[in-house]
Amino acid sequence: MNGTNHKIHNILEVRNLKKYFPITRGIFSKVVNSVKAVDDISFNIRAGETLGLVGESGCGKTTAGRVIIRLDRPTDGNVYFEGGDVFKLRGEELMRFRKNVQIIFQDPYSSLNPRLSIGSIIAEGISAHGIARGKKKKAAVEDLLEKVGLSAGYYGRYPHEFSGGQRQRVAIARALSLNPRLVICDEPVSALDVSIQAQILNLLAKLKKDFNLSYMFITHNLSVVEHVSDRIATMYLGEIVELADTAEYYSNPLHPYTISLLSANMLPDPKNKKKAIILKGDVPSPIDPPSGCRFHTRCPVAEEICRIQCPVLEDKPSGHLVRCHLVSKNEPKPPVKFGVVKEI
Ligand code: SF4
Repeated sequence: MNGTNHKIHNILEVRNLKKYFPITRGIFSKVVNSVKAVDDISFNIRAGETLGLVGESGCGKTTAGRVIIRLDRPTDGNVYFEGGDVFKLRGEELMRFRKNVQIIFQDPYSSLNPRLSIGSIIAEGISAHGIARGKKKKAAVEDLLEKVGLSAGYYGRYPHEFSGGQRQRVAIARALSLNPRLVICDEPVSALDVSIQAQILNLLAKLKKDFNLSYMFITHNLSVVEHVSDRIATMYLGEIVELADTAEYYSNPLHPYTISLLSANMLPDPKNKKKAIILKGDVPSPIDPPSGCRFHTRCPVAEEICRIQCPVLEDKPSGHLVRCHLVSKNEPKPPVKFGVVKEI
């Protein structure tokens, strides 16, 4: 945020990002098709905000995170971090980007090297970036351990000595060791017991304030993302289909897919079971996505136009973006509501 003119400062800008994985065949590895994991997505993350990216498994949200952080190459599009073109960074600029943007993975069991003590794991980045050495480095690691709710005395212990929740705290300490600006949290609590999830979410919220962070929070779990996000985007088959402020997203969802996800989320209350919108079938293959609206094969209110014409992501009042022909027609009302029981 610019204090003088109140302009919104975007820490990350994603423009028309695509990631296709080629499918090859034969001894000459001829490309015969591609998995369209991420297909032309655009969004911003404002400085200090948490953007939730939500969708079923296989919708492309994790791939988007991996491409943004340069773990995978893009097929097309641009990503700008603090104005700099991420895919063109080289040398020192790339090092700075790698320091400023960190990722926390879903599985704290496989993301920590079992042969290294947790002190060494957290210190790796500090050494690689020449931030501190010797006693100062050890003190910095001990400080981080305490900041994530672990004892400084755990420095010499190994990952196998810790629970899943404690390992995720170590992974968070490692991500914070370089004092990043943006952290991509890829399903950071999905592998943890429900009782531990709230502790880690509270820790992430506290650290966001303490370290002045921005988060991109990737999850399939709408109850997790509600409490941590400022805005939420829904992804379906490689596309963003809805994006809104969190309060608006939950109180006035417009896209039938978001509405069905939210209605499924109400299931813990048995009375609500009747009201859930049950989507039939699995997410179609991203190799040959359905024509027109990609959601039309599962959408409870699809019309003829949905099979033929691709809806665009349109800006509704108050920055609410939605990709649906019928929302455009009935604006600003959603074409389907909670309480509609329908299978297709
Ligand atoms: Fe459903 Fe049609 Fe809207 Fe797609 S465009 S979400 S198929 S109503």
